Amino acid sequence: MLGQMQSQPLLISSLITHAERHHASGEIVSRRVEGDIHRTTWGQVARRSRQVANALDSLHLAFGERVATLAWNGYRHLELYFGVSGTGRVLHTLNPRLHPEQLAWIVNHADDRAICFDMSFLPLVQAVAGKCPGVKHWIALCDADKLPADSGLLGLISYEAWMSGQSERYVWPDMDENSASSMCYTSGTTGNPKAALYSHRSTILHAYSGALPDSLNLSARDCVLPVVPMFHVNAWGIPYSAAAVGCKLVFPGPAMDGKSIYELLEGEKVTMAAGVPTVWQMLLGHMQANQLRFSSMTRTVIGGSACPPAMIHAFNNQYGVAVLHAWGMTEMSPLGTVCTLKNAQLDLAPEDRTKVLLKQGRAVYGVDMKIVDESGNELPWDGKAYGDLLVRGPWIIASYFKGEGGDPLRYDADGKGWFPTGDVATIDADGFMQITDRSKDVIKSGGEWISSIDVENIAMAHPAVAMAACVGMKHPKWDERPIVVVMKKPGTEVSRDELLAFYEGKIAKWQIPDDVVFVDAIPLGATGKMQKMTLRQQLKDYVLPGV
Ligand code: AMP
Repeated sequence: MLGQMQSQPLLISSLITHAERHHASGEIVSRRVEGDIHRTTWGQVARRSRQVANALDSLHLAFGERVATLAWNGYRHLELYFGVSGTGRVLHTLNPRLHPEQLAWIVNHADDRAICFDMSFLPLVQAVAGKCPGVKHWIALCDADKLPADSGLLGLISYEAWMSGQSERYVWPDMDENSASSMCYTSGTTGNPKAALYSHRSTILHAYSGALPDSLNLSARDCVLPVVPMFHVNAWGIPYSAAAVGCKLVFPGPAMDGKSIYELLEGEKVTMAAGVPTVWQMLLGHMQANQLRFSSMTRTVIGGSACPPAMIHAFNNQYGVAVLHAWGMTEMSPLGTVCTLKNAQLDLAPEDRTKVLLKQGRAVYGVDMKIVDESGNELPWDGKAYGDLLVRGPWIIASYFKGEGGDPLRYDADGKGWFPTGDVATIDADGFMQITDRSKDVIKSGGEWISSIDVENIAMAHPAVAMAACVGMKHPKWDERPIVVVMKKPGTEVSRDELLAFYEGKIAKWQIPDDVVFVDAIPLGATGKMQKMTLRQQLKDYVLPGV
C-alpha cells in the first residue's frame, strides 16, 4: 500500500520561492568587487533569479547544459545559484585559484556553454578563452558601463544588460528531483580532476540537514557570513539552507583579510560565520593585534582542514564564540559530521570538553559512517582503533561526472556501496569521529602510525607559530620519521630546540618530530588547504639529522 501524501519533487526552485513568499524583506548584503557594500533582499534575489532564468532561455541552452561561474561570494552569484539550477541547467562553480591550464581543462571537460565571471577575473578569463572553444557566452558580473571596451572576448556582455531587461515572471519547470543541479571539480593528488554532480534532491536534503540544531543551527533570526567560497562545494550548502530558513546573508566578496571580515561581522551584526582555519587565523591575528571583541557572533563553523586546539581555545575562551568543528568533502555536498556536545558532556571539565570539541564530530542524520581495516572489516567505535573512513547517504557521490575517475564506491558483503573518503579516523563510543590523517599523509614509524594532525596542532599552540605542516621523511631504521615545517608569526622568534622541547609531555617521545624546518610560506591549495605534495617536493633534498 502506498502512502497518500502529496508527491512533490524536491527542487532548488522551491527554496527561492519559499524565501520570497516568507522572507521577502530578509537582507542580503555583499561587499562587491567594486569595493562598495550592496544591499538587497530575498524578494529581490528571487525576482532577479527569474530574470536570469528568462535570460538563459533566450540563449537557447538545453536542459542539463552547464553554465559556469567564476565568482566570489555575492548576490549576483546567489541569483545564478537559483536561476541556473531552477531552469534545469547545471550550475558549474569554477575555482578561480586554479592554474589557467587546469581551469581550461575543467571548462572543456564539463562542456561549459556560458561563463559568468567577476570582473576581477577578466585576466584569467582572457587567458583561458582561446582554449575553450565550447564556451559560447561570456557574461561579466557587472553593470553595462563597467565593461571594458576591448576585452578580446567575443560577444562579451554585462550581466546587468543581459538579465535586467527580462521579465520578472517565470514559471519554474517541474522536473525529476534526481536531475543534475550543480557540479564541482575536485583535484586528486594524481590523475585529472573529477567532478561531483549534485542533484536537486541531494541539495534539498542536504539543505534541511545543514540547518538542523546539531548541524549549523540556522534560523530566521540568524545573520550568516559564509567566508567559505561559493565556488567550492556550494559554500557548504549555506546559500540553500539560508533560503530555507530565511536568515540574513552577508557575502565578503573578494576581501578575506582579517580587517575586512571583522568590519562585516560587526557592521552587519553577524551571528554565525563559516570558514577554513587559515581564514580564521587572519581574523584572530587582526583582532589580537587591535584588541577587538565580537559583539554579535555566537558561533563559527570551522572545517575544510583540522581546526587547531589553539583556535578553538581562542574563540571559546578569549571571545566567547562557540566553535563548531565540521568535516566533509566535495563528494559529500559536503556535510558529513559536526561537533556538538551531547547532554551528558555538558558537565565535563573544560579541558575534557575541549578534547571532545577538537574532534570532527558526529554524523548528521543522512550520513552513515564506519571505519574499516585494510581488509574492509569494520573496526570498533572505541576512540582508539583507527582505519579508513567510509560513508554513505543520499547526498554522497555514487559516480563521478561522465563516469571518469573510476567507481568511487566500495561494496560490503550486503552489496551496499560505501564511499571511501581517503581519511583515516577513529570513532568513539558516543559516535564522535576524529580524523587522524589523510591516508596519503599518514606517517608510519617503526610500524606505528603517527598522526600528522596531532603533531601540527601542538606546534600551532606555540605563540610564535603561524602555521605548521608535519610530513614523514624516509628513515633507514624506522621507515619514516616525522618532521615539522613551520612558518613563524611575523615579529616572533622560536628556535628549533625550543619548539622540540615544547612537544615534551604532550605526545609520546617517539612521536615527537626529529627536526624543525623553518620556511617563509607553506604552500596552500586552491581551497586553503596545505599542499603536502608540493611541500615534499620542496623538501626533496632534505636529509634527517643523523642519517
Ligand atoms: P575537499 O573535497 O577539497 O573539500 O576536501 C575534503 C578533505 O578535506 C577531507 O577528506 C579531509 O581530508 C579534509 N577535511 C575537511 N574538513 C576537515 C576537518 N574538519 N578536519 C580535518 N580534515 C578535514
